[in-house]
Amino acid sequence: MSAAPEVHEFQAETRQLLDLMVHSIYSNKDSFLRELISNASDALDKLRLESLLDKDLDVDTSDLHITLTPDSDARTLVVADNGIGMTRDEVVGLIGTLARSGTAEIRRSLAEAREKGVSDAAAEELIGQFGIGFYSTFMVADKVSLVTRKAGETTGTRWESTGDGTYTIDDVPDAPQGTSVTLALKPVDTEDHLYDYADKSKLRQLVKRYSDFIAWPIRMDVEKTVPVETPGSDTESDEDKTPETKTIVEEETINSMKALWAKSRSEVSDEEYQEFYRHVSHAWDAPLETITLQAEGTFEYQALLFIPTQPPFDLFMRDSKVGIHLYVKRVFIMDDCAELMPEYLRFVKGVVDAADLSLNVSREILQQDRQIRAIRRRLTKKVISTVTEMRDSRPDDYRTFWDGFGRVFKEGLVNDPDNRDALLKASSFASTHSEEELTTLADYIGRMKSGQDTIYYMTGESRQQIVNSPHMEAFRAKGIEVLVLSDPVDEMWVSAGAEFDGKSFQSIAKGAVDLGADDEETDDTSKEEQNKAYADLLSWLTTTLSDDVSETRLSSRLTESPACLVGDTFSMSPQLEKLYRASGQQFPKSKRALELNPDHPLVEALNKAYAAGDHDKLVPTAKLVYGMAVIAEGGELEDPAEFAKLLAGSLTESFGAGSDS
Ligand code: ADP
Repeated sequence: MSAAPEVHEFQAETRQLLDLMVHSIYSNKDSFLRELISNASDALDKLRLESLLDKDLDVDTSDLHITLTPDSDARTLVVADNGIGMTRDEVVGLIGTLARSGTAEIRRSLAEAREKGVSDAAAEELIGQFGIGFYSTFMVADKVSLVTRKAGETTGTRWESTGDGTYTIDDVPDAPQGTSVTLALKPVDTEDHLYDYADKSKLRQLVKRYSDFIAWPIRMDVEKTVPVETPGSDTESDEDKTPETKTIVEEETINSMKALWAKSRSEVSDEEYQEFYRHVSHAWDAPLETITLQAEGTFEYQALLFIPTQPPFDLFMRDSKVGIHLYVKRVFIMDDCAELMPEYLRFVKGVVDAADLSLNVSREILQQDRQIRAIRRRLTKKVISTVTEMRDSRPDDYRTFWDGFGRVFKEGLVNDPDNRDALLKASSFASTHSEEELTTLADYIGRMKSGQDTIYYMTGESRQQIVNSPHMEAFRAKGIEVLVLSDPVDEMWVSAGAEFDGKSFQSIAKGAVDLGADDEETDDTSKEEQNKAYADLLSWLTTTLSDDVSETRLSSRLTESPACLVGDTFSMSPQLEKLYRASGQQFPKSKRALELNPDHPLVEALNKAYAAGDHDKLVPTAKLVYGMAVIAEGGELEDPAEFAKLLAGSLTESFGAGSDS
């Protein structure tokens, strides 16, 4: 006799998710079947590959398939495969806990959802976001029992749960190899979108709809009525009799198994593409864009790629994977094939089927393979051009894409110099031209003032910080458009020497700006005079503030503020420095120039006071002017307490208190 099954508790977050799943009226309960079939299909793929790679693996792979066995009377449905199967540890690890790595993320989202009082819509969104696969069975079943035996092992494992907080694990000595999942179905409740999943015509309909393209046969027993063949029944005397019939049971393959990527676009419906996308990406949303590519010639391959609508929760996590599956002549070789897509396009999902690769190709070989590199180049270009087309023809979809994936896409501007032009063309940017709308670089150039030969931008942490920065003042006054770049990655590509259409990018917070005067001549003379009038103050400030600034000069970019800080053309911006420091790198403090607005009353007053003598008394004011310039651009003061102290002293003095006059 085998020992009693072990009882385990679900992890807290698994339990919460289950609870959410069971109690939300998720409208698409049908999709549990897609999830089970998808898992079974993956398991068959893995077994076939394993048997190709490991000649010692003693398994029969001659008839790999999936079976559906409904039982109306018992109200059960069994979904079985003779694929790779799972070890006991895998069952505990993969099924007993949430398979996905984003447990912390899920916990956070759940907590938020609960705070908001988990509406059905929120629950649906959560479920959709995490695509919780196997657990979706609890939407339709009161009890789920999984029996599995890993290829090459002798003992199997049974996992069983009613989805209420615990599950049991048990050894099964005589389990068939592969996995079978038995669902004890909930009562039909069509109002709750719970249909009769023991009904064969319903199952057939669902398989057609969700899983028709699955590359393995999905079989189901069907009853057929056939005439009873009795000898002599075709003689003329029997003509008036109704022929006798009988019911026989025959196993039938209910999916067409057509590989969608091998078909031309016109032969495949949007729904079919959508279900295939869900299968390869394990996502529950619909693709925003479907890309097909069929290459003939030296390297023959077919690709079917998707751009998702919703960014996955792990898009920015370290182990976020490239989403391309590699097939060789319809045989699954590997998923997450990083060699086929650059990292900045890691959100693209789909399949590449290459005709001329060896079936037991390894990742090491792939990295060296010329064909793979050629495919990758072509796919990269195709994805970028598709994004450009989407922008021109479907602006709303493009906006969805850009809001979800723009930040990742722009990583390519840094990492893929060969495609930088195409990437810049496909990208959009916030700008001072419009608060809501994004602009293309071509449109920006179209709006450039005559005589303007660079694309102006400013980087920062938020739109508000950038737009309110003193550096913006003269640009605003003269109506010159500035790109508002607030993603961390923006810092990287603008400083990597990008150019567009022969125009370079210039930060309005760096170098000298000469925006051209309305009246050149008088301006030149008045400038000269101002410089003379301020020369002594400027050099005194440079010395006094030498710990913090490289020089002090008069500004032509300020109209309202008294002062701002300006970097060298090639210097790092404060944001970039912060990024590097955050990543643990050491930097000597870089000094920037302090620019003063000679027309500001504070600066004028400071100059007068300087001319009157007693320069030591002006030191606190000098420090305050510098501090204000830091704060105005949204920067951080090195010593806020000292600044506050200086400010308090200065305010006190302005009220006449504390002074001896
Ligand atoms: P996923 O979205 O990763 O498929 P699931 O919860 O559906 O999440 O499944 C978790 C993991 O359990 C799978 O990634 C797979 O490794 C394993 N698994 C599920 N079903 C099967 C099966 N029929 N045969 C073998 N392994 C399976």
